[in-house]
Amino acid sequence: MHTRWREAEIPVFSVQVEGRKRGRKKMTELQIVHSPIVTYSSVIALLLLCPPFVIFVWYTMVLADGSVLLTIDHFKEYGYQGFMNKLPQPSLIAFKIIACFAVFEAALQLALPGKTVQGPVSPAGNIPIYKANGMAAYLVTIITYISLWWFGVFNPAIVYDHLGSIFSSLLVGSFFFCILLHIKGHMAPSSTDSGSSGNLILDFYWGMELYPRIGKSFDIKVFTNCRFGMMSWAVLAVSYCIKQFEQNGRVADSMLVSTILMLVYISKFFLWESGYFCTMDIAHDRAGFYLCWGCLVWVPSIYTSPGMYLVNHPVNLGILTSLSVLAAGLLCIYINYDCDRQRQQFRQTNGKCLVWGRPPSKITASYRTTKGEVKSSLLLTSGWWGLSRHFHYAPEILAAFFWSVPALFDNFIPYFYVVFLTILLFDRAKRDDDRCASKYGKYWKLYCNKVPYRVIPGIY
Ligand code: NDP
Repeated sequence: MHTRWREAEIPVFSVQVEGRKRGRKKMTELQIVHSPIVTYSSVIALLLLCPPFVIFVWYTMVLADGSVLLTIDHFKEYGYQGFMNKLPQPSLIAFKIIACFAVFEAALQLALPGKTVQGPVSPAGNIPIYKANGMAAYLVTIITYISLWWFGVFNPAIVYDHLGSIFSSLLVGSFFFCILLHIKGHMAPSSTDSGSSGNLILDFYWGMELYPRIGKSFDIKVFTNCRFGMMSWAVLAVSYCIKQFEQNGRVADSMLVSTILMLVYISKFFLWESGYFCTMDIAHDRAGFYLCWGCLVWVPSIYTSPGMYLVNHPVNLGILTSLSVLAAGLLCIYINYDCDRQRQQFRQTNGKCLVWGRPPSKITASYRTTKGEVKSSLLLTSGWWGLSRHFHYAPEILAAFFWSVPALFDNFIPYFYVVFLTILLFDRAKRDDDRCASKYGKYWKLYCNKVPYRVIPGIY
């Protein structure tokens, strides 16, 4: 069942490790990406630093008035042990909240009806099948959650009150979840799209299986990324609003603008979920710490952080500023959606569609799967995809800025997500370019000649 990773399918960080084993030429070609020392040190640093950072952000937002300097002062004042004693521990109530949410989402994923859709051909030549019921799951979740509050069954403000424990429980639970994924990757992979790099740390970090499943139909990555990660973002954004309402008797316009933008972005995600099945997360990145822990812990804690900050900082923007920020954010979300839609429609119709009112310009790029079969893909070189090779990342970053800016500029921490997202997406653009260059070879070079900029037209 196991195959060793091939260059066209594996994450860039691990490429040079493979390359070194196969010979000097490969190593020289691939060294330009990252040296093994950078690879290992960055992977180990991320494994060690991300978990405490989640707690640091929660502490700063909730206990230190959003000020990093105050958090540092607290640390000096309480001393190491005193500070550690203030940090949240996993708790029974937190585990119960997480378990109820996870079981509810898993049940919706399995039970709700949806169109059967195909993912792209995998590196091993498989075509994964999905049930596209994300939008239905999203609507059922939000309506159920607000109804529980409205009818007095469950108060979402409790979630904010136990947020520290919820995050520390998630840290522990998700770490064990990733260990189980690793063991499953070794013992019972779901498809031929799995394998080991030969290195335990890289396998744990990047994952072993591309499409891990429980049974035939419960897709683990759809659960972790969409139904847990993205859904928890929406549920937490609503919880922060309700907490502010319960605390102050009203919701500030800044909170409303930020929450509306985040919810529109998440609605767009679920509306387009079947397109997401063709993106890097699902089609290329394996199920490991990077992806699954990221979606189970990093998304609920860091992606929701602008709203978390606003709970105790009810800034009043005024109607004109609110509407301007809202309009700018909505425009960015729309452009990001339209880029993804354009690519998806272009691929689905085999290039037989109009792009900005004209027949699309394209490159037919052939490549070889790990089984040695020759296949081809179409690369769109007009529309948004003719401006730069990853233009869609620019409106994504700007949209995040617009749902953070209602916090104004008293503290840096509400902008951490924007800074993180910028680094993530610029690194991702490079990773995707490297992967596509190794998959498509001369055809990718042709695309780069035609569309020379990576993200920002005329600049980068
Ligand atoms: P993309 O949707 O950009 O998919 C990249 C893949 O598309 C490539 O690997 C290649 O795959 C194919 N491709 C590349 N160029 C072309 C082209 N010119 N024409 C047709 N196909 C092409 O990847 P992402 O997953 O990064 O982005 C998806 C969405 O998710 C975006 O809206 C992005 O902003 C968002 N996102 C959000 C993040 C967040 O944390 N908020 C993080 C990451 C993404 P193939 O092998 O099939 O050719």
